[in-house]
Amino acid sequence: MLEKRESLDFDIVFIGAGPANLTAALHLQKLVNSRKDRIAVPEIAVVDKGRQAGAHLLSGAIIDPVVLEEYFPGYLEKGCPLEAKVTRDSVCFLTEKRRYPLPYLPEPFRNDGCVLVSLSRFGSWLADMAEAEGTAVLDSTAAVEPVIENNRLTGIITDSKGFDKDGNAGPAAEPGTQINAKAFVLGEGARGSMFRRLDRAFGLSPDRHVQRYETGVKEVWKIPAGRLEAGETLHTFGYPLPSYLYGGGWLYAMTETEISLGFVTSADPEQPVVDPHYNLQLFKEHPSIRPLLTEGKLMEYGAKSITSGGYDAMPQPAGPGFLLTGETAGLVNMQRLKGLHLAMHSGILAAETLYSCLLKDDFSDASLLAYRNSLEQSAIYEEMRRSGNYRKAFDQGLYKGLVRAGLSLKIPGLSLTDTGEKKEGRELRPGTKQYRKWLEKKDSFRPDDLLFFSKEADLYASGTVHEENQPCHLLIEPDAIADICTVTCKRDYGNPCQHFCPAGVYAIDYDADPILRLSPSNCLHCKTCEIADPYGIITWTPPEGGGGPGYTIS
Ligand code: SF4
Repeated sequence: MLEKRESLDFDIVFIGAGPANLTAALHLQKLVNSRKDRIAVPEIAVVDKGRQAGAHLLSGAIIDPVVLEEYFPGYLEKGCPLEAKVTRDSVCFLTEKRRYPLPYLPEPFRNDGCVLVSLSRFGSWLADMAEAEGTAVLDSTAAVEPVIENNRLTGIITDSKGFDKDGNAGPAAEPGTQINAKAFVLGEGARGSMFRRLDRAFGLSPDRHVQRYETGVKEVWKIPAGRLEAGETLHTFGYPLPSYLYGGGWLYAMTETEISLGFVTSADPEQPVVDPHYNLQLFKEHPSIRPLLTEGKLMEYGAKSITSGGYDAMPQPAGPGFLLTGETAGLVNMQRLKGLHLAMHSGILAAETLYSCLLKDDFSDASLLAYRNSLEQSAIYEEMRRSGNYRKAFDQGLYKGLVRAGLSLKIPGLSLTDTGEKKEGRELRPGTKQYRKWLEKKDSFRPDDLLFFSKEADLYASGTVHEENQPCHLLIEPDAIADICTVTCKRDYGNPCQHFCPAGVYAIDYDADPILRLSPSNCLHCKTCEIADPYGIITWTPPEGGGGPGYTIS
């Protein structure tokens, strides 16, 4: 017989073990530990769906260490795994054969004083520090459902385990646990599934502006010494993207022999015929990248979505019983291509708000709203305000975008109001109409398993595993498969799900019925499918905790 659902009580629960929430948990636990004379020691927990802290964390990544310096003095002596300091920045426009470096880098594009980091290693270090201070870090635990009572978030239900793909309980089946707390902090990264549920319940997103996203795919390589100096960074735009599509590449030398290499591609339901993985392979073909990789070795692969709507699209950061941090609160500066320092800073402010709630034993809406006030008065909001809605500048293509982006550099906070506002229905953007030509080119791509990889080969390097025999976590309306996938989507977009998923989870077999075949156990949890689906018929839900990628150096 199926066991009864267990219930656990905490004072504060952080949902998601990313840099924002781990910083928050660590700072809060330190505040509490330093004043044990004033309050009863609260029970604090972090829940995360990864099999260990850091397993689902992926980013470029360049970090501005401002928060580490201010709040965690001596962090280097405590083993903080930062890689090289940025020693040289360049930004280049690429054509198919050449590169054109920008002669002058505007201030937001410079990385003076910043440090390269492996986010999965960094997250794992933060989690260890928080645990050492007394926080419970519950990995392999996905938050799947909110418990809302009297119009307030009072608990979460975690993932059930041991059910087969038809939903039948196996011999070791366990229903999810109900975790109750006085306050929750959502730091799920981009497009969090719990955030979406709370957004529907409490109306957190702004009325006028939709949030938007990009998809980042990344490979970590070991390369022979002598080609790059540790700390060199390169950002590119142009090739391989056509001018109507937003995105660009990066290459960071973490050490002389270990590099982070990746590509960002717009994830847009109005322009869904894209392939972020293929763009990365083309990027590696460029004459200024390829020689750096020759005789090198792929170490890890991964993908994630990136929140990019900017200041206008930020949701309300506090609601009844909860706070939002980091990317979940919309805190990514697309002008600087950075969000880690904003995420960590929001974690500090969330911790201070919660500490004050603990001191007063008051978690009322008014007490939690103090977080919004402190965010609004902080350097975080000032930075977000100054970068405005930078990403929107590129909605009408690269060349108009460069002019508009240049203007927004001259006039900080410039708001481009003619695009990105909520509207009824979808429009086909350029490129969507030209997809057949693009497909012909993609069809001729041949991976060599040395420099260029298929999705299957890259996926192997992501460490992704899931319990195979579990209910499918990708929910697609059954009627839609017959009507939309077979007819409308095939006709208008050529079924873009088989291209935009960086793990090849969606395959279309036009001779079969149904035509859509899913491989959910390959999922990298990037959420691109839910974002870029032009019909809104795909819902990503968390699979059993512990499944998904196993990043260790990304
Ligand atoms: Fe990303 Fe969706 Fe593919 Fe999973 S199935 S890897 S979430 S696009």
